[in-house]
Amino acid sequence: MALVSTYIEDLLEGSEGSYKLVNPHTKEEVATIPECSNSQMERAIQEAESVTDELASMSLAERSEILIKVAGIIEEEKERFASTIVKESAKPIKYARGEVDRTIETLKFCAVEARKLEGESIRLDAAPNGQGRDAYTIYEPLGVIGAITPFNFPLNLVVHKVGPAIAAGNTIVVKPAEKTPLSSFLLKEAFEKAGLPSKALAVVTGDGPRLGKVLIDHPDVKKITFTGSPEVGETIKSQVGLKKLTLELGNNSALYIDRTEEENLSEIAGKVATGAFSYSGQVCISTQRVYVHNQISEKFITELVQATSKLQYGDPFDEGTDIASLIDESSQARLLDWIEDATKNGAEILCGGKCFGYGLEPTIMQGVDASDKLSSREVFGPIVNVNVVNDSEEALEEMNDSRYGLNAGVFTSDIKTGLRMAHALDVGQVLVNDIPTLRFDHMPYGGRKDSGYGYEGVKYAIKEMTKMKMISLNYT
Ligand code: NAD
Repeated sequence: MALVSTYIEDLLEGSEGSYKLVNPHTKEEVATIPECSNSQMERAIQEAESVTDELASMSLAERSEILIKVAGIIEEEKERFASTIVKESAKPIKYARGEVDRTIETLKFCAVEARKLEGESIRLDAAPNGQGRDAYTIYEPLGVIGAITPFNFPLNLVVHKVGPAIAAGNTIVVKPAEKTPLSSFLLKEAFEKAGLPSKALAVVTGDGPRLGKVLIDHPDVKKITFTGSPEVGETIKSQVGLKKLTLELGNNSALYIDRTEEENLSEIAGKVATGAFSYSGQVCISTQRVYVHNQISEKFITELVQATSKLQYGDPFDEGTDIASLIDESSQARLLDWIEDATKNGAEILCGGKCFGYGLEPTIMQGVDASDKLSSREVFGPIVNVNVVNDSEEALEEMNDSRYGLNAGVFTSDIKTGLRMAHALDVGQVLVNDIPTLRFDHMPYGGRKDSGYGYEGVKYAIKEMTKMKMISLNYT
């Protein structure tokens, strides 16, 4: 922890105070985190600004080389990164390792895409009177990027901002989630070891609304990239003015299972249990609403309850644990309230519904009304609601009846149903023959409606962190 402790100690010196970071599962103290002052945030931005020319003039090969080195450093220290994620977030170790593996992949994609930061040539003679001119586009860095990140993927979702920023030749100031800031410091250390100038990546910890506002308002910050809740996203959008903005927000992910899937129900049920309950459902594309055809619904529900009963809950450091504590007690209380509201409204609990320690048992519900929070809002907990439908049209209508629009899934062996639904679903990503809880890190990834604004996915995030310039030459 040599460099990490130094970063934290340096920040503590000038900070407004500090807070104790606790392990959400054991409630033991993990670290003392600086509550950074506004002037510390301003200084980080000024320092990042002071090296923008250095980053912009780095060749694409040099940027790519740094990103590959960071991937290698993380690979060598996988267990250190994974155990830090477990301690700060209570993510079960197998999923924490999965996050580290994905982070390495994200960085490799960033390294590849850094080398391909290419524009295009444009034939101006396609326009009347355009003969005798050539034109081409280039992508220039923006300068300082401001990143605000959520608690649930404290490493990979930070890398989804830092990697593309560096690939594009920018510098970046990260305001990580108060609940899980340690992975960002580990990441900063890895970038510094890989040769990135120290001022090019800053981590500033503390209160979101206060420090976020300084980052958003600062004239040297040219773009805000935010991943988090729709409520905070809306506040940021109202504050950001004319600055560039990307918002990656929440969802109430829906899945349709067609009658054609009778043979595959056991496999699909296993996938749904994973998609709904991994990391206690604290995933923006957690499978929340399942619509299943009435001809196969009984068998599917039996299989889903069976698959869920195999999940292990307990200590996140145990290799076999699937479900551990929620991030905090207020999440537990909120989820219990939402379950109670839905049951009062006639919903039935098919399994789970009770607390264990600071966690919630994986919970399957049926008969949840579309207006109940368990359906209409983002649950962000281990609760899935199953709905029986008569056909794909009914499923489509229910799935689109949502304020969100991030991912949706459809299982069907009927290609016409798959394609028709894929085109009609009002979401950013449709996964046919997969659960909605699926993301590969180079996929384009962005939400519609209250799920967000703009795109991530390495190549797309890089483009959003640049400004395009067109250059034309008149040789007549
Ligand atoms: P959150 O919105 O509570 O916090 C996210 C970040 O915003 C934190 O760093 C917080 O300090 C900061 N923040 C809070 N108030 C702010 C303000 N007024 N101005 C500026 N910054 C502020 O979210 P969370 O609880 O950490 O994460 C869960 C949410 O994130 C869920 O809604 C989930 O769906 C979403 N999420 C989305 C994606 C995606 O890619 N679409 C990925 C992961 C999580």
